[in-house]
Amino acid sequence: MALFSIAIDGPSGAGKSTIAKSVAEQLGGMYLDTGAMYRAVGLYMKRSGISLEDAAAIAAHVDETPLSVRHIDGVQHVFLGDEDVSEAIRQPDISLAASAVATVPAVRARLVALQREIGRTISIVMDGRDIGTYVLPNATVKIFLTASAETRARRRVKQLAEKHIVEDYEKVLREIEQRDYQDTHRAATPLVQAADAVLVDTSERTLEQSIDDVLEICRRAIAAQ
Ligand code: C5P
Repeated sequence: MALFSIAIDGPSGAGKSTIAKSVAEQLGGMYLDTGAMYRAVGLYMKRSGISLEDAAAIAAHVDETPLSVRHIDGVQHVFLGDEDVSEAIRQPDISLAASAVATVPAVRARLVALQREIGRTISIVMDGRDIGTYVLPNATVKIFLTASAETRARRRVKQLAEKHIVEDYEKVLREIEQRDYQDTHRAATPLVQAADAVLVDTSERTLEQSIDDVLEICRRAIAAQ
């Protein structure tokens, strides 16, 4: 079978990672969570004491960030040097750190190069904010996955509760709106739906229904390529 590449973009909390992971598994491709890479860079800058508002300092330190992505038993892990930071990057304060470093062109340039390299020789399902518009412009199929901010905040609170992290709904909603604003208003490749992406709104769909919707779109596109 010919290689395929699937780009899934959309705002935070729309269900991208859960859906992309399941779709990758069912189609036999590798799943790449690009947000985890921005999170790892955010974590590194924070730990290094670099101000998240200092774009020049972030740009100056991005090349020394010892980031690597490894798949262990089919599951993606993100490393800073020898340390597996896959859990540490999920803390809520790292979400904002990721969004801040993602506004810096030098960070995007390094991570996009790495993402394209990973996707060069294998069938892949990549999720992020700029995959269809920038990282994989010739993807087999592009999906723009979205849901209302309120639905996304509710889901995020539930997801965090499952990890025993208690967060206030109003606070999560404000953070989601703040990240949406940062992601859609930044100068460097802002979050926009690619002209040729298929829009999937999951607000009124269950997770299973959303996975089926996306799978159907992907299967049709792969068969037609
Ligand atoms: O998807 P996730 O919430 O883990 O992403 C964290 C942050 O990384 C996003 O808010 C966004 O600012 C940034 N990001 C990005 N481009 C990507 C993936 C993530 O700018 N391809």
